[in-house]
Amino acid sequence: MSLVRGISRFGVHQRSVACQLKAVARITPPLHLPGATEFSADRDLFSPVWLVKTLKQTSWLYRDLEEATRLDKNWGRHKEPGSWALVYFAFVFSGQVDIEPWWKRTSDDVWRECGFAVRPSYQTTWERFVELESVADEFKDAANRLIQHARKHDPNVGVHLHVDGTEAETHAALVHDCQPGDGCRWQPGQPGAVKRPERVDIDKVRHDRHRESENAPEDEPTFGKADEVKLEDGRLRVKMGGHWYRSLDTSAGIRSYRAGKCWHGFYNQKAIDHYTGAPIAVGVYSASTQEYHCYPDLFARVQAALGGNPETVVADRGFSVASVFALNTNNGVASVMPWRRNNHHHDHPHDEATHDRDGIPRCKHCGAESKFLRFRVDRSGPRLWFTCVQKTTADCQRAQSLTCSKDWRLLNPLWRTDPIYHELWATHSNYERVHYHWRERYKVAGDNLANRPKRRGLAWQELRAQAALAIEWFCIAFRQGWLGSARRNQKAATRYIEAGAKSLDELLKRRALDGLTKWYGAAAEALGIGQQAPPSRRAGAPPGAPPGKPPDPEPF
Ligand SMILES: [Zn+2]
Ligand SMILES: [Zn+2]
Repeated sequence: MSLVRGISRFGVHQRSVACQLKAVARITPPLHLPGATEFSADRDLFSPVWLVKTLKQTSWLYRDLEEATRLDKNWGRHKEPGSWALVYFAFVFSGQVDIEPWWKRTSDDVWRECGFAVRPSYQTTWERFVELESVADEFKDAANRLIQHARKHDPNVGVHLHVDGTEAETHAALVHDCQPGDGCRWQPGQPGAVKRPERVDIDKVRHDRHRESENAPEDEPTFGKADEVKLEDGRLRVKMGGHWYRSLDTSAGIRSYRAGKCWHGFYNQKAIDHYTGAPIAVGVYSASTQEYHCYPDLFARVQAALGGNPETVVADRGFSVASVFALNTNNGVASVMPWRRNNHHHDHPHDEATHDRDGIPRCKHCGAESKFLRFRVDRSGPRLWFTCVQKTTADCQRAQSLTCSKDWRLLNPLWRTDPIYHELWATHSNYERVHYHWRERYKVAGDNLANRPKRRGLAWQELRAQAALAIEWFCIAFRQGWLGSARRNQKAATRYIEAGAKSLDELLKRRALDGLTKWYGAAAEALGIGQQAPPSRRAGAPPGAPPGKPPDPEPF
């Protein structure tokens, strides 16, 4: 454990810098492994008792977790002899969201397997579970050790990641909270009482979030249509329709809608492995936080989980801002994200002298398109190396380079003309179903009264998510035969090879049509083979399209 912790907390940066000094000549083809998370195939075997028993047998994993989560060790008071970490795993694996109904139904063999002679009281169970909130990181570390164990057995794990978030409700309502001096004329008991804002339908929240990231420029707050949001004395207050409301859950965010409706909770963000379809990292964040502000934390979790960096991160427009591209590229990670307009730029990027609207560098000597040679992060930062496609002049033979910091959003380690870019984007929406599986399987990110936890707060949701992550990878490792048992998933790795082929074809056709396959720029004009003005800046130029126009995801 100490070794893993050392790497995750202090070593990753050093280690990843060392990896980055190697040039990346080629992105690993994205394989996926059908059946890796098809736990229903083992439904006769998988049970809370099986999980506890098998975890105990996996002593390299269990011993350290048990030690780290034994919270009474320094307090000098005697607690029950059993393992509360194991009991908590059994609780999450049961698919029950609340402690009491689960506790009532637990069988003696679960408790015995966890080291308890008799079932402790409900009150004790509740207290011990709540204490585990303070050691959620230990569950995350256990998941990280399993993920690194999986990567030793199969290096395809964690190479390409899909980042996506889903709504997770809090079990806290908003209450009227106008203070003297706020000018509120409503009195309790008065007709036309101020009602609690109603909860808005979750599908509406989802739809709005996607539409907002489509249309809103970056840096625009997205807590919906609230007039004002304040955090006072640790309490979140929000003003809607002329009244102030407060929430009892200070860690949750608010999005408000017309007609005094609102939605209150968190985003459950996941970085999902393209190969297995399982999250590599999960994080719970206030719904008042922009997705791209959550990204650095989620990315740090990914690095800790992998003990290094992925090759690519695929994400939708909510993340498509320069800071996210820069963070990825500086770590040697390619970004596959659609274009999003920002406050400082026009809707679509122009063709520049150094690179065109699709981020393809132009030959310095003749203005032709270029071909990718390699990507490297060195002391001067991340840099692309390329060569002229046309070889018009003698100088065109030599390798050329361009620093990615010139345009973080366009100069990407994985080019938009690479089929892998399109394959990854076209499959992105396939991974949204992981949120659904996790909601069903572990009751993580509950989105209604029935499946959201009745205990409030981010910490409780975070603990459950990290325990679920450890269980998910434990079950994958078991099914793949990485825990010393026989392999149960017989399916072979494959590729979504056809996915994205159409959109790549469209992109290449569009580039030819718009004149990007020809020469342009000062060098081209001097050679008499093209105009100085880039295609997008010529009179009557078509407005262009977003770079590498990501296709609508194709069903398959
Ligand atoms: Zn009021
Ligand atoms: Zn050239």
